[in-house]
Amino acid sequence: MTVLKVEDIFSDVLERAKTLDPVNARKWFDELQPLHFDAGILQIGCPDHTMAEFLRQNSKAAFTRAAQQITGHLVSVEFSVIDGHKSQRGHTADAGPKLHPDYTFSNFVVGPCNRLAHASSVAVSRSPGKNYNPLFLYGNSGLGKTHLLHAICRDARQHYVNITIQILSCEDFVNRFISAIEQGNLPGFQRQFRSVDMLVIDDIQFLREREQSQEEFFHTFNSLYQNGKQIILSADCAPAEIGGLEDRLISRFNWGLVTRIDPPSHDTRVAIVKKKANLRGLDISEQVADYIAKKAHSNIREIEGALTAIYAVANTTGTQVTLQMAKAALDGQIESPTKQLSITDIIEVVTAYYSVRLCDLQSKKRSQSITLPRQVCMFLARNLTRHSLEEVGGHFGGRDHTTVMHACDKIEELKKSDHKFKAMLAELEKKIAQQIKA
Ligand code: ADP
Ligand code: MG
Repeated sequence: MTVLKVEDIFSDVLERAKTLDPVNARKWFDELQPLHFDAGILQIGCPDHTMAEFLRQNSKAAFTRAAQQITGHLVSVEFSVIDGHKSQRGHTADAGPKLHPDYTFSNFVVGPCNRLAHASSVAVSRSPGKNYNPLFLYGNSGLGKTHLLHAICRDARQHYVNITIQILSCEDFVNRFISAIEQGNLPGFQRQFRSVDMLVIDDIQFLREREQSQEEFFHTFNSLYQNGKQIILSADCAPAEIGGLEDRLISRFNWGLVTRIDPPSHDTRVAIVKKKANLRGLDISEQVADYIAKKAHSNIREIEGALTAIYAVANTTGTQVTLQMAKAALDGQIESPTKQLSITDIIEVVTAYYSVRLCDLQSKKRSQSITLPRQVCMFLARNLTRHSLEEVGGHFGGRDHTTVMHACDKIEELKKSDHKFKAMLAELEKKIAQQIKA
């Protein structure tokens, strides 16, 4: 048997992996290096740990298949970080927070919608704890908050070799707090979060109505702030609009700089489409970019979905991406998620939240504890599915369409007058969306 050397097979494996999984292919794959090919194990070297982590999570299957196809043997693939990059990149290769390799400042398209958020993020990453503390970014889902948070951390680490950073979702923070209490290790938890130079918490609205966690976070905040450490937060709305937050937290969130990210204009979306395509090493014409930007207008995640759908078609049919093909690939693709949602998905989430049973919702009961969840279900069913008033009414114990209309008006009013309720509704919608993904 001829002995295959890693150098001989590596470029073929790389190319094959890219074609096997174009969605997760990235231009920086060209920076990967062949390390060893020995005893059925192909070791691939990555310039930094964010890349290695990305590959482990997204590309292991494609690389494995590629390696098996190229060598004709059973191969397993491993990704590791090349130590030689330590000094070059300015930090220990495997240390530090887990950051998404795509979420960098250079991959972030700046437009009128996010100029201030971007500029303040850059400023904070250059001199943490000095300018804006805390930095509070807010905006609707999918507008780039998480992207900016990761970019700040990455940049800060490049400028300050020894900086210690904690970046995590607020949900994670809360869960870790709860388990610290359960394990009787609150001091350990506190040490972990109060000893960092930079604390980055994503989706801080998760603290809503969680009083104990708010209390803990309040002290964490104070301790860091007093020591001149940087705090960076994101949320889906401005501090005062979150609802269910203690006033002392709201006021602290407003101490530094609060910046909003707005939905991108058409031109910015076109630029983002091009950037995303480029990142994947894909060619895309002006026309196609323009078309995708028009179709995916409410949230940038749709752009990624659109690119993925188009390139999946291009890849399976082996054809170039044309406008016509893009249109065919996207036909119904972007609007479809809401269509697939059923009333049952809504009911599951709402009944769990209110601790009521479906049969109660369908019964004639009119107590407030049943009426409200029933109305919430009706409202969500009207807004998230394509069912008619009659169909929705039919689902809830054969009620007529005026009852459903009344329910929708009622919830609409509550939404306007009660921000806690509005926030709760948004949380339910999010859970329902997760339900269909699951
Ligand atoms: P959020 O945290 O606000 O919900 P994310 O940061 O997760 O949104 O962004 C969703 C997707 O959109 C990510 O893939 C991100 O890279 C991309 N994105 C958002 N804004 C921009 C931008 N201005 N330039 C490039 N990509 C962006
Ligand atoms: Mg986010």
